Amino acid sequence: MTKLTINQYAAKKIRQGISVLEPRDFPDQSSIEGFADLYFKQRWLSTAYFSRQNKGIGWAVQSTDFLALLTSAKAKRQPYYQDETTTAFRVFNQDGDGFGGMTIDIYGDYALFSWYNAFIYTLKADILAAFEQVFPEVLGVYEKVRFDSKLPISSHIAGQLAADKFLILENGVAYQVFLNDGLMTGIFLDQHEVRGALLDGLAAGKKVLNLFSYTAAFSVAAALGGAESTVSVDLAKRSRDLSQAHFQANHLSLETNHCHVMDVFDYVKYAARKHLTFDLIVIDPPSFARNKKMNFSVAKDYHHLIAEVLPLLNRYGKIIASTNHARLSRAAFLAELSKGFGRQDFEIIEEFRLPTDFATNPADPQSDYLKVFVLEVS
Ligand code: SAH
Repeated sequence: MTKLTINQYAAKKIRQGISVLEPRDFPDQSSIEGFADLYFKQRWLSTAYFSRQNKGIGWAVQSTDFLALLTSAKAKRQPYYQDETTTAFRVFNQDGDGFGGMTIDIYGDYALFSWYNAFIYTLKADILAAFEQVFPEVLGVYEKVRFDSKLPISSHIAGQLAADKFLILENGVAYQVFLNDGLMTGIFLDQHEVRGALLDGLAAGKKVLNLFSYTAAFSVAAALGGAESTVSVDLAKRSRDLSQAHFQANHLSLETNHCHVMDVFDYVKYAARKHLTFDLIVIDPPSFARNKKMNFSVAKDYHHLIAEVLPLLNRYGKIIASTNHARLSRAAFLAELSKGFGRQDFEIIEEFRLPTDFATNPADPQSDYLKVFVLEVS
């Protein structure tokens, strides 16, 4: 294995437990691709690999023994395996499980790998062989290629083929998923706990507005949790069919659960004009969005969203404000939210982060990317 002497900046971060390798800490190593042993002042610090990806230029890793890594990752998910009402969850999460650049999700009888850089992709055969030993019950495997390459972004790679669309369970609620159609799968598994809270009382008796609703998963959980009605708004045309399929899979009425294919900002203006009001508004935008009229960035524009929805909120109404933007800290997100509320008083009544299946690296706050606040106006 390549032996590499690193500088004090890189050494300090690795000693702190940060796994992602940043280009500024490795000014001379831009050409290396693959495994290396990292040394500082003659002392071995860590095994790592170099490969450029969206985040960083590589990872310090705990081990290169995939059988051991996968075995311990699976053991950590025993509570999920024991819960028969939840059949989709993450079983391997990057540096939270000792090896960055890869995630593995279970969707019922199938598994979905996501590869984040070109080097880890070259290890695929070894990783799959280890995976088949540790997860013999998995019937078929799919992959998403999340780095720049000429490979198809989505493929079936091993075992049986899944149906184009099939149902998984989460807290007993059925959600329709698809493993071979672009990067998305019909559900964002990292929001288990928020959907769980909606199901468990947060939405009971409430009129719910779900903005940036995608397949309306939050609305489905809210409706089954006793919401009086739900309105789901998403710009993507296919969101309507996918959302309706979700309601139907759970025998929910389309009379009280509405879907609008519409720009969120246009819907909010329309609702204000029509004096529509809600008791609970969920806001879960993408970190960056662009449409004909504007560019939206969570870091700079979230406060506009809050300010625009406040007039739609009934007295003692609640907002669930969510973002998965890794580079926006919890404090900066809270500051954005406060800015949106302006002079309106509010209280944080609950907070959610990543669920335990999305194991994080405790030394690196960026790996703990999900920030969700339940806010009540007073
Ligand atoms: N809340 C969803 C996930 C949202 S993903 C869930 O829990 O499953 C982000 C969604 O925002 C995408 O479906 C995208 O189509 C939608 N979107 C992006 N910009 C939008 C806009 N201006 N108005 C409405 N929807 C938008």
